[in-house]
Amino acid sequence: MYDIIIIGGGPAGLTAGLYAARAKKDTLIIEKGIEGGQVTETTGIENYPGIDKIDGTDLGKKMADQAKKFGAKIVMDEVDSVDLTGEVKKIKGFMDEYEAKAVIIATGANPRPIGAPGEKEFKGRGVSYCSLCDAAFYEGQDVYVIGGGDSAVQEALFIINFAKKVYIVHRRDELRASKDLQEKAFNNDRIEFIWNSEVVEIKGEKIVDEMILKNNQTGEVKSIKSDNPFGIFVFIGYVPNTDIYKDQINISDEKYIITDDEMRTNLPGVFAAGDIRQKTVRQIINAAGDGAIASINAQKYIDEAEGNLYEGFKEE
Ligand code: NAP
Repeated sequence: MYDIIIIGGGPAGLTAGLYAARAKKDTLIIEKGIEGGQVTETTGIENYPGIDKIDGTDLGKKMADQAKKFGAKIVMDEVDSVDLTGEVKKIKGFMDEYEAKAVIIATGANPRPIGAPGEKEFKGRGVSYCSLCDAAFYEGQDVYVIGGGDSAVQEALFIINFAKKVYIVHRRDELRASKDLQEKAFNNDRIEFIWNSEVVEIKGEKIVDEMILKNNQTGEVKSIKSDNPFGIFVFIGYVPNTDIYKDQINISDEKYIITDDEMRTNLPGVFAAGDIRQKTVRQIINAAGDGAIASINAQKYIDEAEGNLYEGFKEE
């Protein structure tokens, strides 16, 4: 049995793992994909303090290496079901089964789909949710980025390094993205905006060759069609991965895990950190902060349960 199992190897999970391993807790991080999680799909991060500019892949790898350096073990597995209600926390993955004294859930969120006909069928064949993975396929071509938040604009600024032109399709006439990102996009003459518009359908034969947009102010329907292949990159937010927890853990109406300021869920010994948690600001820095808080409190929970005074709270 592990002391602490962390489900999810993104910034929140890896920070929790770093803190747990440094506190000499037997620590396992379960990650279903790449070490670093969703952040590995982010480009040009400029707001992580102390680091001028870094791609998510590099930041994720650095975080994972640091956690491993102190003894955290990382396995690749996808958690299928959990029983977190008892004193021993049981986790069933597709590869193995695991037990721990405390669990930290840090599985983040998945990209939100548009939900338009054709979107699912053409995923990987013109429709993408990851510019770092797919932007290079659109060298010299047109790309349509859907969304108006930080992700859409930041990724548009990355994709323009490859594409001939990037069109940002947004459902309003004002961006949600931060002012600095907006400024960079507005100042780039190869980035154009299609305002008040929503994707109605995506069509093609083998790959995408048509996208139908509707102006939600005028009702005008427009077909984007090209003889050359073009890309559609969707960045319209994220939806949390809480399905396997919802019967045991309190979840908000938006399906995020509800915690207190100490990252405690309604279950003793079960904590949540990062984007999966109900909160208003979702940044890498506060995901990492959540991970540290969850880890310290998981350590405290174990030490108190075992009758040891938690070292962090020992009075001198
Ligand atoms: P977000 O901030 O929730 O923005 C989502 C965007 O997509 C909004 O502009 C929204 O339009 C639009 N949208 C939502 N649902 C839609 C739908 N069904 N159809 C069409 N458009 C839709 O999501 P995000 O940009 O992915 O960012 C997620 C979090 O990560 C945010 O907290 C963000 O600040 C953070 N982030 C930060 C950075 C950075 O600091 N550099 C980079 C990336 C992400 P409306 O504006 O009309 O609602």
